[in-house]
Amino acid sequence: MFDLNGKVAIVTGGSRGIGRATALALAERGAHVVVGFATSEAAAREVVTEIEGSGGRAEAVRLELSDPAATTAALTEVARRHGRVDILVANAGISIDALLLRLKDEDLDRVLAVNLRGAIACARAVLKPMMRARGGRIIFVSSVVGEAGNAGQTAYAASKAGLLGAAKSVAREYASRGITVNAVTPGFIETDMTASLPGEIREASLQGIPLGRFGAPAEIAAAIVFLASDEAGYVTGHVLRVNGGMYM
Ligand code: NAP
Repeated sequence: MFDLNGKVAIVTGGSRGIGRATALALAERGAHVVVGFATSEAAAREVVTEIEGSGGRAEAVRLELSDPAATTAALTEVARRHGRVDILVANAGISIDALLLRLKDEDLDRVLAVNLRGAIACARAVLKPMMRARGGRIIFVSSVVGEAGNAGQTAYAASKAGLLGAAKSVAREYASRGITVNAVTPGFIETDMTASLPGEIREASLQGIPLGRFGAPAEIAAAIVFLASDEAGYVTGHVLRVNGGMYM
C-alpha cells in the first residue's frame, strides 16, 4: 500500500519541520522528491542527502513563495525536466502573531502572501502537467487554527482558513481530470514554529489536547502520504484533522 514509485512529488518548505518529515516519508515510499526551500538551502540539501543515503531520489529547489512569478517558473521547470508532477504538498508557511489592534498591515500582507497566495500559486503551476497526465494529488497544509481560530493569530488563521476554501474549490474544478485536492489541519506539532512559544502557552495548549501530548512531524507526514497515494483516489475536498483531538 501507498506505493509512490515513479511519482514526482514537490514539497514546499521541505527544508524543516513538517515539510522535511513529509519529504522523507514520500521518498521512503519511492517518490522522487523536490525539496523546496526559501532560505534554508543547507538544510534542504541535508534532506536530499538523507534521502539519497537511504537509496531514494530527491533534489533541492528554491521556492520562495512570496515571489509567485519565480515560484511558478521554478515549478514549470521541474515539470519540464521530469515530464510530470504527480504530487504537490503546499506546506510552507509562516506565522506573525499579534492581537488585531496591533497587527501591522505589512505583517498581514506577508502572512497572506506566503501562506495563502503562495500556496494557491503553486497549485496553479502544477495543474497543467497534472491535467496532461489526467491525474494528480494536491495537498494543502492548513492548521487547526484555520478551523477553530485563535486569539492573536487573525492573519495566520485567515490564511489557513482560506486554504480550506481554496482546496474545496480546486477540488471541484479539477475532479473531472482525476486530480484530487485535500487539506490537512495539524494541531500543535513540535517544530521550529512552535519551539519558541512561551512555556505557559505550551502548557495551556497541552491542556486542550485530549491525547495529552503534542504531535510529531512524522504524524502529519503519514496523513499526507495517505492523501498522496493511489489508495486515496476517492478522497477529494476533504479536511483531514491530525490534532490529537484538539478540535473535533
Ligand atoms: P517550520 O518548522 O517553521 O518550517 C517552515 C517551512 O516553511 C520551512 O521549510 C521554510 O523554509 C518554509 N518557508 C517559510 N517561509 C517561506 C517562504 N516565504 N517561501 C517558501 N518557504 C517558506 O514550520 P512547520 O511547523 O514545519 O510548519 C509547516 C506547515 O505546517 C506550515 O504551513 C504551518 O503553518 C503548518 N502548521 C504547523 C503547525 C505546528 O504546530 N508546527 C500546526 C499547524 C499547521 P526555509 O527554512 O527555507 O525558509
